[in-house]
Amino acid sequence: MTASARLLIVGPQGSGKGTQGVLVAEAFGIPVVSTGDIFRANIKAGTELGQQVTAIMEAGDLVPDELTSAIVRDRLSQDDAANGFLLDGYPRNTAQVAHLDEFLGERGETLDAVILLDVPREESLERLRLRAIEQGRADDTAEAIAKRLDIYEQETAPIIEVYAERGIVDRIDGVGSLEAITERIGAALAARGLAQRV
Ligand code: ADP
Repeated sequence: MTASARLLIVGPQGSGKGTQGVLVAEAFGIPVVSTGDIFRANIKAGTELGQQVTAIMEAGDLVPDELTSAIVRDRLSQDDAANGFLLDGYPRNTAQVAHLDEFLGERGETLDAVILLDVPREESLERLRLRAIEQGRADDTAEAIAKRLDIYEQETAPIIEVYAERGIVDRIDGVGSLEAITERIGAALAARGLAQRV
C-alpha cells in the first residue's frame, strides 16, 4: 500500500469534480484542498481575504495567481497534508502549475495523478442550472457561468496537456451514477498503484 497520494481533480464547471473529490479524498484518507471552498469560507467569515475576493468571484473571474498560490502553499504546509492531498480548483492555469511545481519541488514531491472528469458541455450546463436553483451560489448567474466556462476552456484545459506529457492524467467518463464514477476513478488510481485506505 502506498503511504501517500497527491492528487488533482480537474473538470469543467458542473462536471461534479467537487463531489467526486470529496469521495476520493475520503477513500484515501487525505484532505481536500479546494480553493473555491477556501475563498467561499473567507467570504462567509468576512475576513480580509474574503473582502478581497468577493467581487472577483461574483464576476466569475480568477483571483490573482500570486494570492491564490500563496494560500495553497500555506494550506499544503499544514500537517494533515504531509502524506497527501487532493487539489480541487488549483492549479487553474499554467502560471499556477509553475507555482505548484516549485513548491512541490522544494519538498521533493510530485503529483501522482490528475483525474480529468470528462462531461459533455450540455450535461454540465444542465447540472449548473440545477445547482443554481438548489444552492443559490453567487457565481452561478448566467454571466458568471459563461465567464468561468470560457476561462476553463482557454486557461485550464491547457494545463491538462502539461500533465498529460508527464503521463499522469487519467481521463474518466463523468457521466453515470455517483457511485459508478467514484469506482472508475478508484480503478484508474489503483492501476497506478495508488491504494485506497478504506
Ligand atoms: P467552479 O469550478 O464551479 O468555477 P470553484 O469553487 O472551483 O468553482 O471556483 C469558484 C471561484 O473561485 C472561481 O470562479 C474563481 O473566482 C475562484 N477560484 C477558485 N480557484 C481559483 C484558482 N485556482 N485561481 C484563481 N481563482 C480561483
